[in-house]
Amino acid sequence: MNTTFFVLFIGIFVFATVMGGTLGWAARSPKYGILRIHKGRNPIADKLKAPTIFMNYSLPWIMYGGFFYFLGHHTIYAGMPSFTTFLGETLGSLILYDFLYYFMHRAMHTKAGMKLIHGVHHKVRYVTAESGSYLHPAETFAGTALFLGSVVIIGPVSAASFLVANFLFTTINIWVHSNFVLDRPWARLFNFWTRTHDVHHYYCRNNYSSIFPFWDQMFGTHEDGVKVK
Ligand SMILES: [Zn+2]
Ligand SMILES: [Zn+2]
Repeated sequence: MNTTFFVLFIGIFVFATVMGGTLGWAARSPKYGILRIHKGRNPIADKLKAPTIFMNYSLPWIMYGGFFYFLGHHTIYAGMPSFTTFLGETLGSLILYDFLYYFMHRAMHTKAGMKLIHGVHHKVRYVTAESGSYLHPAETFAGTALFLGSVVIIGPVSAASFLVANFLFTTINIWVHSNFVLDRPWARLFNFWTRTHDVHHYYCRNNYSSIFPFWDQMFGTHEDGVKVK
């Protein structure tokens, strides 16, 4: 891990912040808001207070800092691997994370899980991009720990693999909450993410994984969302 690594790592957070802010603004604008799947008001996200946003941004920073300090040298190596190794490390980390997240998310949909932790996130029925930050601190902690734990298990991984996996983990989580569908062939994957997570928030059921479709399909919890017109 060198200066370039940390500059790129901070760059991911800056990009994610701008992306979340732009998508949140677009959801409220008359011009782009019509592209939302469910156009209802989102009083919880509207009331999202600065301390909640600050906590949900600062907690992962503290955790990443601790991870780099204590485990970075064992988990992340410098230098570029072969393309297949890069692909294996990146996809492996994300697939393992999504697998573990599936079960954690399902466990949080029990009566106790909803009451103690996950009910906070499900106060949002009409999701917008910033809804991804409306979480109980324990869920923010658990989600970040699950991602970093997956990298440790798959690792050691290259710095490039870690950065790309972190970029996808962060931005996909924002996008799935954006609620936008685009009537374009190239947008099918993006529409899949928003439609499945829209169902999850709107009905509070099914579609527990956040990146890959196969965990829900494998365990019989996939539910199709509203189709693009
Ligand atoms: Zn949920
Ligand atoms: Zn959500």
